[in-house]
Amino acid sequence: MHSLDLLSEFTSFIEQKKAQGKKIIAFLSHDNVPEELIDAAGFVPLRLVFAGDDSLMNASHNFLPPSTCSFAQSCIGFFSLKPNMYRFLDYVDYILLSNHCVSDIVVSEIISQNFNVERLDFYVSYTRNNNALKYYKIELEQFRKELEKIKGEKIPDEKIRESIIKYNEFKKTLAKVKDLQIKGSEKLKIYQKAMLFGPQIQSELEEFIAQTKEKNDYMGNNAKNVILTGCSIFIGDYLMDLIEESGGNIVFFDSWVGYNYYTQTFSQEILDKISDPIDLLVKRFENNVYGDHTVPNSLDERIALIENYVNEFQKEHGIKLGVINHVIKFCDHFALFQSLFKDKLQDIGIQVLNLERDYSRSIRGQLSTRIEAFMEML
Ligand code: SF4
Repeated sequence: MHSLDLLSEFTSFIEQKKAQGKKIIAFLSHDNVPEELIDAAGFVPLRLVFAGDDSLMNASHNFLPPSTCSFAQSCIGFFSLKPNMYRFLDYVDYILLSNHCVSDIVVSEIISQNFNVERLDFYVSYTRNNNALKYYKIELEQFRKELEKIKGEKIPDEKIRESIIKYNEFKKTLAKVKDLQIKGSEKLKIYQKAMLFGPQIQSELEEFIAQTKEKNDYMGNNAKNVILTGCSIFIGDYLMDLIEESGGNIVFFDSWVGYNYYTQTFSQEILDKISDPIDLLVKRFENNVYGDHTVPNSLDERIALIENYVNEFQKEHGIKLGVINHVIKFCDHFALFQSLFKDKLQDIGIQVLNLERDYSRSIRGQLSTRIEAFMEML
């Protein structure tokens, strides 16, 4: 029900923005895309954060081999079938192609070539050294010029800085949701809404946090508490229902829709020290050593973070957390390392369920059985 309401609210939001003459720029929701530049141009960043189903995946097979990740397949399906609830996709003016992964590139290219959506490019280096930072800066400047061309006027530095500060505050507020004593599905709803609306819901978010802080300790019930890591749970996915129906509760979303998004913030010291807004965005790229975008040692960083979270949680609540590693089928970023990831965590006594799946409805029962067995084992 949440998804229907959310999608309908988002449709009205996009319709409103279109009526104000704003351009809508869509992109696959991944790391390092500077949404603040889009916002500073007066346009709307639209993250594609929607889970698929069989019909959406099948609709992509005219364009892509079925061995492409299920999320990417579904993105094509959304533009091809335009399901009623997603009619805001009709308003997309541009698709931003980035090289987060091969699927990101091909999906963006296919959408632009086949569905009457213009394409913008934004490439990101696969390394982290001085040349990578210089390259990222060149791409930012190029992207800014592209946006200025569309807008027909310059985007002043102050506007970009304003957007950076606005998103920074928003992410810092969103970060507080992690520690609220509410069900995992409630947290996920907030993260998903945040990915769609961004700082537009700043005051709603603040109000929600203030009210919810008063709630009782959710950890007091019989749910088995776990961390979700790996691929994000996108809007419309049934996975969260399965986890909760199987007696589980996600306390920490270590995924792009969650931790990796809301922790990419600037301290006041950095904001005071770096005045050029483009350099600020470069700084964020430099500091983003946790993402799955071929960052050196990212697997070790991920394991260290999870170990630390499990230990802290155990100290505070006396509960040992398990880990569900969600892998969307054919997502190489997470599929390739899943065995190593599981072995390394199990070696330090943390139980892991590698849950690789696509969006087919037919595997629902099978997923449910595996999750239930994992919960019983914890
Ligand atoms: S392969 Fe993974 S990282 Fe790439 S689009 Fe699919 S889910 Fe995202």
